[in-house]
This record gives sequence, structure tokens and C-alpha cells, in this order.
Amino acid sequence: MTAEIINGKEIAAKKRLEIAEEVQKLKSEGVTPGLSVILVGNNDASKTYVKSKQKTCEELGMYSLLITMPEEVSEVELLAKIEELNADPSIHGILVQLPLPKHIDETRVIESISPLKDVDGFHPINIGRMMTGQNAFLPCTPYGILVLLEETGVQLEGKHVVVVGRSNIVGKPVGQLLLNKNATVTYCHSKTKDLSVHTRQADILIAAVGIPNFIKADHVKEGAVVIDVGINRNEAGKLCGDVAFDEVSEKAGYITPVPKGVGPMTITMLMYNTLKSASESIGGF
Ligand code: NDP
Repeated sequence: MTAEIINGKEIAAKKRLEIAEEVQKLKSEGVTPGLSVILVGNNDASKTYVKSKQKTCEELGMYSLLITMPEEVSEVELLAKIEELNADPSIHGILVQLPLPKHIDETRVIESISPLKDVDGFHPINIGRMMTGQNAFLPCTPYGILVLLEETGVQLEGKHVVVVGRSNIVGKPVGQLLLNKNATVTYCHSKTKDLSVHTRQADILIAAVGIPNFIKADHVKEGAVVIDVGINRNEAGKLCGDVAFDEVSEKAGYITPVPKGVGPMTITMLMYNTLKSASESIGGF
């Protein structure tokens, strides 16, 4: 079997058009969705991510406010800035680009963002609301994966999903979202024994490990849907995922490539969450 490619770039473009249309509708009601991104320090990767978030925001007609702070900014100053943004009616989403310098407590910072503006979906209130199936901002990468799966038309109910990776931002929440869709979910991690025994049972296999080409054809059941979350560099410095694409795509039913798979969906869902927040500020969709 040769897998059908799940084209994240195309799906993201389609979603972005829908979001841009909704932004115009909100603007006609006098509300421009606004996203503020706080960038602390000089991490090059963070700068690239932030630039890309700003650019997408502007392309979709939203207001984008970038706040840069020096590496040595104090936690108190950062918290004061977040407090200011929490109270600013022109800002519907607040995102603090991670990682933060070591002297700043990331948990305290995340918890200081109003849950009503936590468009990253990292605040414990949003995580708890997601777990209990209530209205919440869903974390962007897991939400993007859910949209990609839904776009394939593959039924999720009753499917066995195996998630390799249990981080708070990808592995754990993506499993939870799929559990909410009535899938049966297994989590694997670095202490899992006989990994392939689990992964070979997956109807849907999600790799969020951070090791280049870690998932091989031997880990995959014939016809499975394989979602590759990884963004890694191989020895040659080339961008690659957690899945050995060439061999796994010979066996899987569907597969996401890297790049142009999960990646473009993450920013798209951030934009969606900002739109949702703006819309909820005047009563919701
Ligand atoms: P983390 O490093 O936080 O988590 C990695 C997970 O993989 C951990 O749960 C770890 O287990 C598990 N793991 C490590 N080694 C093994 C192993 N040998 N066998 C089984 N499991 C193992 O990574 P993230 O979740 O933040 O990110 C994962 C990947 O996704 C990275 O490549 C990252 O760059 C990418 N990413 C992509 C995004 C996108 O937009 N496309 C967004 C976010 C991340 P344990 O818990 O036991 O340590």
C-alpha cells in the first residue's frame, strides 16, 4: 500500500480563508481580533516563530501586537505586562513565546494569563475544561492534528489511537482530544517496554517524540493513519519528522509529511483561537 498524503499546507490554507472571512464579519461589527505575542530574550528559533505568527495574523486581517523584552527582564515586570494585556479590550489573545529565561517561572507566567485570552490553551483552567469536554481554548498543535484527521474523513469513534510522547503541549492533550471523540487511546513514552507491540496495534499512530526518523515501517500496521508531529534536523541538517517517511509511507493508509504536515496547522489554530476569543467577547459565534 502507498499512503495517501495528508496535505497540511493545503488544509491550513483552506482553514485560513475561512478564518479571514469570519474576521471580516467581526470587523463589520466593530471588533478586530487582536493577538499579542510577548517575546523575551534573543532565542533565534523563538524570533522566527514569533515573526511567522505576526505575519499570519496580519494576513488574516487581525491586529498583531509584538512586545519584546530583554533576556534579563524580571518576572515581576513580565507579570505586570501580562496584567496590562489582560485588561486591554483590543487584545483577545495573549501568547508568551516559550522557552523563557531560567530565572522566570514558566508555570507562574502561564497561570497569570487570563483563561479568556489563553489562546495557546496552556492555562490549567483550559486544560481542565478540555479534559471535561467543556468549551475551552484547545492547544494549537493537538487541535490542528484533530482537524487534519477530520479532513481525511476517517472515522475516529472506536479507533485505537496510539500516541508516542506524553508532553503537556502535544502528546497528552492530543490523546485527550481523541478520547473525547470516542477513540481508545494508548500513550507510550520513553519508559514504555516493547514499543512496537503497542504501535503495531494502532489504527491511528501519532508520533510526538522529537527523534529524527524514530518510527519505522516495523512500528506500523498496514493501512494505519500516521501523524508525524516531529520537527527535527537530521545529520545532514535537513528538516525531518519523527517518522521514517519513505518506508512508512509504503505501509500506511494516510501519512502527514514533514514539512507541510502538522506544522502549518499549529499557527492556523492559534489564529482560530484568537478569532474565537474575539467572537466570545461579544457573545460568541
Ligand atoms: P518533548 O521532548 O516534550 O516530549 C517527547 C516525548 O517523547 C516524551 O514524552 C518522551 O518520553 C517521549 N520519548 C522520548 N524518547 C522516547 C523513546 N525512545 N520511546 C518512546 N517515547 C520517547 O517533545 P514535544 O512533545 O514538545 O515535541 C515532540 C516533537 O514535536 C518535537 O520534534 C517538536 O519539535 C515537535 N513539535 C512540533 C510542533 C508542530 O507545530 N508541528 C509543535 C510542538 C512540537 P518521557 O515523557 O518518558 O520523557
